[in-house]
Amino acid sequence: MQLGDQRASRNVEDRRGIGIVGGGLGVGGIVIAVVAYFLGFDPGVVMNAAEQVSAQRETREVPKGAPADEMGQFVAKILGSTEDVWGRIFQQSKSQYRPPTLVLYDGQVRSTCGTGQSAMGPFYCPEDEKLYIDLSFFRDLQTRFRAPGDFAQAYVIAHEVGHHVQKLTGSLRQVEAARGRGSQAESNRTSVRMELQADCYAGIWGHHAGAMKQLDSGDIAEALNAATAIGDDRLQKQTQGRVVPESFTHGSSEQRVRWFKRGLDSGSPKDCDTFSTSAL
Ligand SMILES: [Zn+2]
Repeated sequence: MQLGDQRASRNVEDRRGIGIVGGGLGVGGIVIAVVAYFLGFDPGVVMNAAEQVSAQRETREVPKGAPADEMGQFVAKILGSTEDVWGRIFQQSKSQYRPPTLVLYDGQVRSTCGTGQSAMGPFYCPEDEKLYIDLSFFRDLQTRFRAPGDFAQAYVIAHEVGHHVQKLTGSLRQVEAARGRGSQAESNRTSVRMELQADCYAGIWGHHAGAMKQLDSGDIAEALNAATAIGDDRLQKQTQGRVVPESFTHGSSEQRVRWFKRGLDSGSPKDCDTFSTSAL
């Protein structure tokens, strides 16, 4: 990627090396966290894990603003780029984009949605409008999921920002409501629609980042590779040796790639309506 001119966002909280005191997940929490690792993030999972956690407090002041180290700068610039893109898109529809905060952490982190663990992968907490990212996930992308490259990492951030856009547009609320009703299978189907829309939104950002000349030739391939690597079918085959579509919460590799590409080609959020399409 070419981020030389990109403004770094100041909406970053650097909690690396801070840790939490007196917390820790109970046995149930650990089991849940492991499941979440394989299936990807589900807001309910963090809520459940939260119940396992006892009183805790931070040990020192959290630095705010773009971190100075290379990885922190990269993350802050990607976040800045998403702010620029979504800011403009919201402006075009006469509304205002309220940017999320990105929290960098290692090990464990406390969010309003409960305690996050690096094993869960990156997640978005709609309650506090923050994205939580443990940079070790980026190493996992490279080694465990064999999806290297800076654009693959940017895609992961843009996907979480996509969930924030869903919060702002109200579609996340619909998902929560659907979760309350219906069966587990039904709730999983709604979850897939939500995740594929976030992938499509990540593509929308990619479209505009491309127009801003921030992409290199191999970048799109990196993101597609990452989307393929973290599809539910691929993860399930790796972890269980078989594929159970009803238990998908993020969508198959083919679906994730297709919706990402749709956003990437179009650049317009109206093409990301995964909730009313009959061809998911
Ligand atoms: Zn997601």
